[in-house]
Amino acid sequence: MQDSSHRNGIISAGADYDAVIVGASLAGCTAALMLGRAGARVALVDKRASADAFKRVCSHFIQASAVPTLERTGLLDPILAAGGLRSHLRIWTRWGWIVAPRDPRNASVNLRREQLDPLVRALAAETPGVELLLGRTARALALDGAGTVTGVVVQERDGGERTLRGTLVVGADGRDSRVAELAGVPERRTRHERFAYGGYFAGGAPAHAPDASIWMTDPQWAAAFPTDGELTFYAAMPTKARLAEFKRDPARALVSFLADQPDPPPIREAELASPVIGKLEMENRLRRPVAPGLALIGDAALAIDPLWGVGCGWAFQSAEWLADAVVPALAGAEPLEQALERYRKRHARGLRGHALLMVDYARGRKFNASERMIFSAAARDDRVARVFEDFGTRQIGPARAFPRLLPLALAAHARGLLARDGAGERPPPADPSPAREAEPETVAA
Ligand SMILES: Cc1cc2nc3c(=O)[nH]c(=O)nc-3n(C[C@H](O)[C@H](O)[C@H](O)COP(=O)(O)OP(=O)(O)OC[C@H]3O[C@@H](n4cnc5c(N)ncnc54)[C@H](O)[C@@H]3O)c2cc1C
Repeated sequence: MQDSSHRNGIISAGADYDAVIVGASLAGCTAALMLGRAGARVALVDKRASADAFKRVCSHFIQASAVPTLERTGLLDPILAAGGLRSHLRIWTRWGWIVAPRDPRNASVNLRREQLDPLVRALAAETPGVELLLGRTARALALDGAGTVTGVVVQERDGGERTLRGTLVVGADGRDSRVAELAGVPERRTRHERFAYGGYFAGGAPAHAPDASIWMTDPQWAAAFPTDGELTFYAAMPTKARLAEFKRDPARALVSFLADQPDPPPIREAELASPVIGKLEMENRLRRPVAPGLALIGDAALAIDPLWGVGCGWAFQSAEWLADAVVPALAGAEPLEQALERYRKRHARGLRGHALLMVDYARGRKFNASERMIFSAAARDDRVARVFEDFGTRQIGPARAFPRLLPLALAAHARGLLARDGAGERPPPADPSPAREAEPETVAA
């Protein structure tokens, strides 16, 4: 580790870098730029050779919980300068639209990955201390005699192999993390009974753009995310019972699905501006985010149901939590294991409660009793909607949200009964699609 002028560094004996990060996408680049700015020497490795590579299957709705990280890292301004939108979220359920009173703290960010990924990578690459090594694939881990991870064996562009030794190795290599697999970290996989299709459309933006809209038609799901370039990313995540119709003609099925939503967006007036792509298997992966000498961030630590639009934000946030935790250890001020344990606890405190609820909803089930109570109250009561938005933007977890949401929702219902307003209750749409066994993964263009 070096001071911020990169002169007085200490790197563990035998290590070439303070940190070797595998994966130069949102999580890896954020960790690299934060560690580099703190004076660390960082190798940032990605198997893709182009600095302009980007993740293709993503709706890139970055929740408000990650905005402080974007501000702190200096990413927010370039994202907005590139055309990124600040937007709030409107949610349709059969009780009506949930629209919380405007609170700028709850505005999310949306910029296409095509723009976002190269922008974040460029900022990491220009950070002193960060060496961006593209076109290198992590194939194996180097371990010491005690089983501590001490480096990464990468396959070079010419097919040769090289070991990058680091005091800390970071797996930021996404949901199918090879680093996690090689390290044998404990992993839990759970079913996901929906599939996803989406595409960019020009014109035909939803009402209230740049705000995003989602339709939760219990158990089906559709969304409209206005983004940069005056485009809207229209997405569908139906249960697997609807898969055949989407596989037959993805573009036609996507347009009909959105156009059939209650209070629908004007998708039929829009022009498809990209291929419609799909992800058919989205199994949840929950991994222990640390092992001796190793940390996992982003999807490598937790790849959860994309229906809730949390993965990008959590990639930024988990990278920040890791960097904050390990900087003192990389400077020799404390043992690395102590720092990694602090990161593990921070990760669990921030994300575990959210993740467990998401795992449950990913089964493709219909709303349970508490969801029905909260959604119906949030559609008619601003106080419920406000707490619900703080929770949905992942700024507070279930342990803080539910003790507030449940009494507020009960009170709202009691007031409704007393006033005998009877407003808002509409029959649920007819589509109780039963969940089916998982299909093999494909990405259809
Ligand atoms: C259908 C769908 C919709 C989504 N919509 C949203 C949304 O609206 N909002 C949101 O917040 N999230 C969304 N997500 C989730 C989001 O895309 C991910 O959570 C996010 O990209 C995770 O970032 P990451 O940096 O952890 O990993 P990734 O972006 O997956 O990057 C992993 C990197 O590791 C590299 N890599 C992999 N293996 C190796 C190796 N062996 N050697 C070297 N490099 C390697 C890859 O090339 C890649 O660059 C969605 C996901 C899906 C599937």
